[in-house]
Amino acid sequence: MRAMVLREYGSPLALEERPVPEPGPGEAVIRVRACGLCGTDLKIAAGKLPGTRVPVTMGHEPAGEVVAVGSGVRNVTVGDHVLAHFYVTCGLCEYCRTDRESICRNLLGRVGFEIDGGYADYLRLPATSFLRLAPGIGFEEGAILGDAVGTAFHALYRRGHLRPGETVLVMGVGGVGLHVVQVARALGARTVAVDLSPAKLELACAHGADHALRYGGHYVEQVRDALGGEGPHLIVETVGRPETVEANLRVLRPGGRLVIVGYLPGSTFRVDPLAALLDEVSVVGSRACTKDDLGSVMSLVSRGAVKPVITRRFPLEQVNEAFSELAADRILGRAVVVP
Ligand SMILES: [Zn+2]
Ligand SMILES: [Zn+2]
Repeated sequence: MRAMVLREYGSPLALEERPVPEPGPGEAVIRVRACGLCGTDLKIAAGKLPGTRVPVTMGHEPAGEVVAVGSGVRNVTVGDHVLAHFYVTCGLCEYCRTDRESICRNLLGRVGFEIDGGYADYLRLPATSFLRLAPGIGFEEGAILGDAVGTAFHALYRRGHLRPGETVLVMGVGGVGLHVVQVARALGARTVAVDLSPAKLELACAHGADHALRYGGHYVEQVRDALGGEGPHLIVETVGRPETVEANLRVLRPGGRLVIVGYLPGSTFRVDPLAALLDEVSVVGSRACTKDDLGSVMSLVSRGAVKPVITRRFPLEQVNEAFSELAADRILGRAVVVP
């Protein structure tokens, strides 16, 4: 089979011929039908993420059809259409046992980061990493649920405790942010999309953002004007640059929550402890999503409340070209690789 392999940080992925994997006990193999491209891929390939290893087949948003299962596998069967939850976890620690497996203490690895991933014809994982797609969800849409849509849900619902009727500001409406807008709306919130790109803002409005703002001067006043005087209840920060986080801490309303989803590796931001105390603001991190979140996301997509946005498709051997497009910020919503 073909696989796109990161052999060395900072180098293009190499197209390699590999044997088709065979499932061991408890494992399943899928024929990959789509794998989403994520901004994190650029950080992995550049060697900017701690904990990754090379060589690795990249791709952490895979979906496909089960073609083989090992002994003892009960959750999936040959022919099932599935997506992969990209955190391969221990299943035993305190966090795994309480539906918080993205912070598993004995993480075995992340698919496409340390464990061979979905930019390949076939993918082998513990069978419990695969979740059956709900009826009506195709491979391309299913693929991007695993991170772009799942991460949006986790940030808003699990970590942001969003309640109907609240207002949400989405800083950055790229692959994840565009789905934060949609999930927030589906959960009953009013949304403000913020970005530098007019095309991304336009797409966010087409997918239900109530207000769109170009990030720039007088940001705090502009947000408050858009929302009728008060800042938002919840901010989902998908950019994570020190200046955007600090501006967002000024824009939150008293009692508001700032959820961090995006980051600039190695950077830090400042919090004024007195201001945080006086307004009782919360700053929380949100890491990927859980399998339980993916179940919720599938039902939102099944009933049409959220529409996964895929605007570009690339064949497997063009992952490097796709990375260049992503790095040049020329991809709206998500792109998928179709092996
Ligand atoms: Zn990702
Ligand atoms: Zn665990």
